[in-house]
Order: sequence, then C-alpha cells, then structure tokens
Amino acid sequence: MSTETPHHTVTARFEDGRHVEALSTMTCTAPADALCHAVWDCDCEAWDLPRVEDGRPVHMSMYGGEHTGQLDPEFCNLREWFDNSDETLNGEITFPVTPEWTGDGYLFNAAQDTP
Ligand SMILES: [Zn+2]
Ligand SMILES: [Zn+2]
Repeated sequence: MSTETPHHTVTARFEDGRHVEALSTMTCTAPADALCHAVWDCDCEAWDLPRVEDGRPVHMSMYGGEHTGQLDPEFCNLREWFDNSDETLNGEITFPVTPEWTGDGYLFNAAQDTP
C-alpha cells in the first residue's frame, strides 16, 4: 500500500501569516474500489486484513468470521479522520511564494507550482 501513488492530498491554508490546520482540507482521488471508501455494516473499532472482494469491503473480525460493508466513493475514511482529529499533519513542505507589496508591507502569496 505504501508504494502506491498517493491518492490523498492536503491543501494547507494560511491566515494572518500562520498555517491554520483547522482550515486545511484533504482531497481524496482514490479509485472507487479503494478501501478508504469502505462503510462497514459493523461497529468494529479494529480489524484485520481489510480488503475489497467482489466490489465489497471485507475484514476479519477479531471474534472470528468476516464482516462486510459497502463502498461509497463519496466517502473517505482518511478524510473523515483528517477533518475530525487534531494534529494530523507531520513533516514539512517547500512551496513557492509571490511577493505582493500592499502599500505598507509585503504579503507573500502561496503559489501553486503546477504548470
Ligand atoms: Zn467488523
Ligand atoms: Zn480516500
């Protein structure tokens, strides 16, 4: 899983010169059959060997047997977690900025480095 192309991107937002984590958003571009779209029929809080089988998410229950659910391409478990938890960002990024003179100082606008 870790060698796949990342399917989740975070858009960082800045306000008053500071990164505001609560305003940052995650975008999910994972394919429709990705496990992050799993909506489980059960209430398990932990599970083993989650996978997609015949278009349905399946996991092993800790109490034996298998549980299933549905795939909802509009829903993303990772995005839910990102939006509803604190301190979910780690690491650093380098991004270009364009200076803008505002009359009494510079404002540095974050620029997209996509061509
Ligand atoms: Zn379960
Ligand atoms: Zn996702």
